[in-house]
Amino acid sequence: MNKHIAVLAGDGIGPEITDGAIAVLKKVAEKYGHDFTFEPLLMGGCAIDACGEPLPAHTVERCLASDSVLLGAVGGPKWDSLPGDRRPEKGLLGIRKAMNLYSNIRPAKLWPALADASPLKKSLVENGIEILVVRELTGGIYFGERGRYEDESMGETAWDTEKYSVREIERITEIACKLAQKRTKKIISVDKANVLESSRLWRKTVHAYAEKHYPDVTVEDMLVDNTAMQIVKNPAQFDVLLTSNMFGDILSDEAAQVTGSIGMLASSSLGDGTRGLYEPIHGSAPDIAGKDVANPIATVLSAAMMLRDSFGLPDEARAVERAIAQVLDEGYRTADILSEGMKKVGCKEMATLIAERI
Ligand code: NAD
Repeated sequence: MNKHIAVLAGDGIGPEITDGAIAVLKKVAEKYGHDFTFEPLLMGGCAIDACGEPLPAHTVERCLASDSVLLGAVGGPKWDSLPGDRRPEKGLLGIRKAMNLYSNIRPAKLWPALADASPLKKSLVENGIEILVVRELTGGIYFGERGRYEDESMGETAWDTEKYSVREIERITEIACKLAQKRTKKIISVDKANVLESSRLWRKTVHAYAEKHYPDVTVEDMLVDNTAMQIVKNPAQFDVLLTSNMFGDILSDEAAQVTGSIGMLASSSLGDGTRGLYEPIHGSAPDIAGKDVANPIATVLSAAMMLRDSFGLPDEARAVERAIAQVLDEGYRTADILSEGMKKVGCKEMATLIAERI
């Protein structure tokens, strides 16, 4: 199989972790007889430095011509003082919108070898955790109208808008239902329907769509504040969590932390077709950039999701996941997941160890 992969390494640890994932994908291609080509492209702070904007038109054009996109992370203190529309994160939101990727899937899994890394009590995690956060990605408050004005009595005032349409809610519900069918057939849909009008439409639409098209899937509702509490109180109760854009952004980071390290969690963003964008859920970690200590596993797992969900190569995806489990079982750890008696390795070596076991 021939596949052309656009690589947006980005900033901070982005280049180190994407290099790691590329090394693993090259090994997969060699072992299974595929031909993967990789095209580096600029996005984020590095694009601002090189072209004066976070998402050059050439990058969008080439991503749309690729079979899928592998992304590291963007941002860092160097660009923090730029105005909102010229910051690195604008590139991230822009590429998701340009590729019409309206779903973001983030599996939060506790690996058995890393059970000690969870900050929760052993009794809460010993039976394993595997939460699949299905987050709406191109709607809601991150894309709604916003503005600032001078209020006569309160001074400078800013506002953002949370807005959802039935179509937007239905298409993300469709993705959550399809995934739930392959798992426990249970979805918990998160909202704030006791306060927000947009949440009341969310709740009504999710139920109506799921009942009509996926009668075998059960949907329960949970308010976002309660969900945040339940993730630390009893994480094992969750399977598929269906959320709006902002609620999913926050809850998936919380679920990530419960499983141990943010450096272990992958994500995929998909729209109607098979072309997706695959990235770790963490940021550019400027505090450890360039030191070869970052954990590349989240990016390698993102590459495995690309193999399975965009290229239809489940055996290859499983081979990558098995190689990761083996390396962890053999006691190799990057600094973020290090515990007593384990062998400490850097970013590059961790990726090499995984590639060698494919
Ligand atoms: P972060 O995820 O970059 O880092 C949080 C903490 O986790 C840091 O201590 C970091 O060292 C550690 N960490 C993150 N990834 C790691 C890895 N792979 N291995 C080991 N440790 C890891 O979040 P932050 O510090 O809030 O943000 C830093 C920058 O990243 C900001 O500019 C932010 O805007 C940006 N950001 C980008 C994305 C993205 O590109 N998708 C997402 C979140 C934040």
